[in-house]
Amino acid sequence: MIWKTKIPYKVNCFTWLLAKETVLTHENLNKRGVHLCSRCFLCEEQGETINHLFLHCKWTTQLWQMFTNMREITWVKPGRIKEVLKCWNRDGNAGRKEERWKMVPSCIWWTVWLERNQRCHEGKQSNIQRFKLKCLALYYFWCKQVVLDSSEVISTNIDWL
Ligand SMILES: [Zn+2]
Repeated sequence: MIWKTKIPYKVNCFTWLLAKETVLTHENLNKRGVHLCSRCFLCEEQGETINHLFLHCKWTTQLWQMFTNMREITWVKPGRIKEVLKCWNRDGNAGRKEERWKMVPSCIWWTVWLERNQRCHEGKQSNIQRFKLKCLALYYFWCKQVVLDSSEVISTNIDWL
């Protein structure tokens, strides 16, 4: 699923690293001997593990809910990234919209990673509305690339939004 998704190649690679749980979060830096006082940059309430930051953090949860609400599905979030990649299309009942739906997890993860790094390295943070908007804007942009590839019109591309 990772390599067939029509998103920027660097995000495919990032998703692959996430599935292998090797992205350099505090959890993985600690494993490599870089000892930090681990704190999630988004909620500032829990330690920064891959599964917390990209799945269970209350900020990230809002992004998952945004998409599952638009799709009108009740989704039981799996515990790990790899499991999300396995079940996402099936649980979303994607059908003919599969190509677009398939992009959602990477879109969420890339948005979270950019926000996390902006907070970590630049000391700037978006509020929750802006965070959600950034995710939607990225999704729209990626869909548009797919639309251009498949000669569809944008309006049908996001008809479920
Ligand atoms: Zn958090």
